[in-house]
Amino acid sequence: MAGPKRFIEVDWRDWRSWPARLARVWRTSLQVRTVAITMLLTGLAILLTGMYLSYSVGDNLYQQRLDQALTDSSRATTAAQNQLNAADVTTPEAVKHLLDTALTAVQTSTSSRLVGAYRVPGQDPSFVAPLDFASVSLGGVITPEVRAAVQKGGGKQFYQSVALPTSTGGTDPGIVVGSQLSLPTAGLYELYIGYDLRDAETTLTFVQGTLLLSGLALIVLIGAITWVIVRFVVTPIRVAAETSERLAAGDLEVRIPEKGEDVFASLAHSFNGMADSLQHQITQLAMLSQVQQRFVSDVSHELRTPLTTIRLAGDVIYDQRASFPPATERTAELLHTQVERFDLLLSDLLEISRYDAGSVVLDPEATNLVRLAEDAIDAMSTLADQNGTELRLEAPGGYFVVDMDPRRIRRIVRNLLGNAIEHGEGKPVVVTVDSNESAVALTVRDYGLGMSRQEVSHVFDRFWRADPSRRRTIGGTGLGLAISLEDATVHSGWLQVWSREGEGSCFRLTLPRVVGGEIVSSPLPLPPLDAVNGAETDKEVTA
Ligand code: ADP
Repeated sequence: MAGPKRFIEVDWRDWRSWPARLARVWRTSLQVRTVAITMLLTGLAILLTGMYLSYSVGDNLYQQRLDQALTDSSRATTAAQNQLNAADVTTPEAVKHLLDTALTAVQTSTSSRLVGAYRVPGQDPSFVAPLDFASVSLGGVITPEVRAAVQKGGGKQFYQSVALPTSTGGTDPGIVVGSQLSLPTAGLYELYIGYDLRDAETTLTFVQGTLLLSGLALIVLIGAITWVIVRFVVTPIRVAAETSERLAAGDLEVRIPEKGEDVFASLAHSFNGMADSLQHQITQLAMLSQVQQRFVSDVSHELRTPLTTIRLAGDVIYDQRASFPPATERTAELLHTQVERFDLLLSDLLEISRYDAGSVVLDPEATNLVRLAEDAIDAMSTLADQNGTELRLEAPGGYFVVDMDPRRIRRIVRNLLGNAIEHGEGKPVVVTVDSNESAVALTVRDYGLGMSRQEVSHVFDRFWRADPSRRRTIGGTGLGLAISLEDATVHSGWLQVWSREGEGSCFRLTLPRVVGGEIVSSPLPLPPLDAVNGAETDKEVTA
């Protein structure tokens, strides 16, 4: 069987077709699916782990720096307070000087340069005490709540995460630790020391970057490893699938290479065992079928000689039937008809056995299909007249000369016409011929009994008849269409049928312009254009 094949060209530059292509790759490639799912799940796992790691490293860094800041601030505050306690000053200049000294003490005993001090509001006005003293202004970044807590807090430390302004105009993450200082002659002061956490943040960013990069690298690595592993597993399966496909296509010699002792080796072993036994059985069947074919061919040949003698004798008796009594005359007629049928059956059997034996040789010559159809119609006109059937030929313009074996093609057309007349119930039979660049086609359309779907699927079977009890006028053998199909196939042509009960049938013969050439499409439509809703229920049998 050979039908039209279509090849779809792949053009990856057409991005609109990508989703469909990717979906196809996803559906058809186990390897791609496994790798994609593995990478996705690994990616998810790495993302969750990375998020946890990043959070825990960040938290740890912050906690460390906070502890450091608290210790550092406590030490600096104590150092400043000790200095304030030791002094005994009364003039504003002396107080100012003392406070400056304390501030220097704070700055020298802490790692931070960001120090600020503010006089706790609500104390008795003191002319000797300045309001604020600071190395930088921290007032803007500290919230009123923290300030209130420090103002009330006595000897306790309070801290707050802040955004410290930088010299470039930006901000750095930081911590401000606050505590109280007390000056015997001037009252209470809030002391704030700011700690820049930029270095901790840089470390965290570095750790996060490293985590991200290594995570991505890990995903790619795992994808590559999965690809390799799945390839190991999929390749033998693919080989097995391809081998069974080839076996199914009829290549009985094909086997899976058996390597190693693993599960694939045992699969290959049992598959090969199965293939061996299949091959053995098929070879046996083929031999049996050959013997049968030869038997049919031999029997047909052997029957030829006695049949010729019977036929000659029968003809003599038939010619003299007028001189017989009526009952004998009838017998002579019956004998004549049946001998003719026998002769026909024997010729058909011989023809089919020639096809089975592969000994059919084509005798191609350039022939005009329209002329050939006209000849066939002429030859069938007597039968058509007997049935009251009108035979019509429709051939629009075109170039109808193709290489064919005219004897065989004429046989096909006559057989199709005979069937159409026989089953056409006296309605007109239309023969249409048309051509295109690659092929010529002929359809025989009748409007008679038609066939059911089930019947159509058997129409080319040997000795099959839709209803053996149907009235038969030309006494076919049931081999006509089987031989026609062989005749079309040997020309690399198609013989197809559409039929529906009550609507009639349409047989289409399509031949390539040269024997063995490829038919791209048939010039004539099937189902025929006049079929009602033809495309929905038609059943095509292609040769
Ligand atoms: P035969 O005509 O010798 O019986 P064929 O192989 O030519 O053998 O046809 C097989 C069967 O297909 C016929 O017996 C008939 O039942 C069915 N058939 C063929 N052509 C038609 C048609 N045009 N309309 C209805 N039935 C058909």
